[in-house]
Amino acid sequence: MSRKMTGKTLDAIQVQRSAIVVDTHADTPQRFVDEQFDLADPLNGGELNLDSVRQGNLAAEFFSIWVEPTRFKGQYARRTLELIDSVKHQVRRHPDRVVFVDTADGIEKAHRAHKFAALMGIEGGHSIENSLALLRQYFALGVRYMTLTWSNSNDWADSSGDFDDPAVPHTKDGLTAFGEEVVHEMNRLGMIVDISHVSDRTFYRAQALSRAPVIASHSGARALCNHSRNMTDDMLRAVANSGGSRSKGGVVQVNFFSGFVSQAYCDALKALKPEVDRAVTDLEEKAKAEGRELTYAEKQKVRRRFSDTIPRPSLSMLVDHIDHIAEVAGVDHVGLGSDFDGVGGQLPEGLDSVADLPKITRALLDRAYSAEECRKILGGNLLRVFREVEAVSNELGV
Ligand SMILES: [Zn+2]
Repeated sequence: MSRKMTGKTLDAIQVQRSAIVVDTHADTPQRFVDEQFDLADPLNGGELNLDSVRQGNLAAEFFSIWVEPTRFKGQYARRTLELIDSVKHQVRRHPDRVVFVDTADGIEKAHRAHKFAALMGIEGGHSIENSLALLRQYFALGVRYMTLTWSNSNDWADSSGDFDDPAVPHTKDGLTAFGEEVVHEMNRLGMIVDISHVSDRTFYRAQALSRAPVIASHSGARALCNHSRNMTDDMLRAVANSGGSRSKGGVVQVNFFSGFVSQAYCDALKALKPEVDRAVTDLEEKAKAEGRELTYAEKQKVRRRFSDTIPRPSLSMLVDHIDHIAEVAGVDHVGLGSDFDGVGGQLPEGLDSVADLPKITRALLDRAYSAEECRKILGGNLLRVFREVEAVSNELGV
């Protein structure tokens, strides 16, 4: 792609300030619930708090409502509600700085009021426990996207995480008849269909079926890092073309996780996996003997001990993913889905928290993206898709 070099002269901070920066994935709610973490606290090993939000000029975060499927078996709805409640609790605690938002307009309004917009997305369709009633009630509580699966397949959609496991039952065509109903109900409600984590087959089925554009809330480009959580060039184009002929298309929000950014990191992590799994199991057994369950944070800490031995990818390798998606799918179809607080600190060099987001803007300007293009990538594209999902919902009616 040939670009005019006008961007280089622009100041990154100025562009960052002029943008409505939206990140579509952070796992901070696990910290709210399990560690009683408060957004006003110091980062303390995490990657998102109010100070970093201010420094990074983050306007809106989609907090991930993610229910670990093994630990919470039989209690998916309960854990989902506790995580939802934890986000709202933070909003109540910081009314002067945080506002709960569930519309695209709400993000803009919060930004104008200099408040941080807290939104929610469910990560993993197992949260709805095969019930459209639960889906509707999560929407009523303010959930505005749902990944059809997490790393686990559910009864109606397949995950990339266990698609190759013959012991796990899978659907025939990517979605069962109920899975198709889920997608339609999400369209009707105005909940964004999120295809991060699903198997390729489920991706194509959902993408073809959805009457509104779809998003990948936290995925990268498979051409640069061959992991099933990343998307092939054909899939990138399919997201850009999703939502039907009248649609302006969906958006792929790039995940910052080192294991999805860099092939070398991904390979090194794979090689370490048996050792890491053993260490986690040992600690799990120890906790069990003490009559308690290992928390997500504790597990992440073990993983981090190993992953810290692998050299971090450069920030430029992350920007390569943005570049690649912009080239293959178009600059209107790429954004940011950090996965902060969900990847055990395994992030590219120099990208340690939300406060470092302007470094991405700097890198984009250095690559001669215009200020306008930066603003699209930083949040404009996601806002456009969110608005269209709302419009489709209005069209489909009650
Ligand atoms: Zn995820």
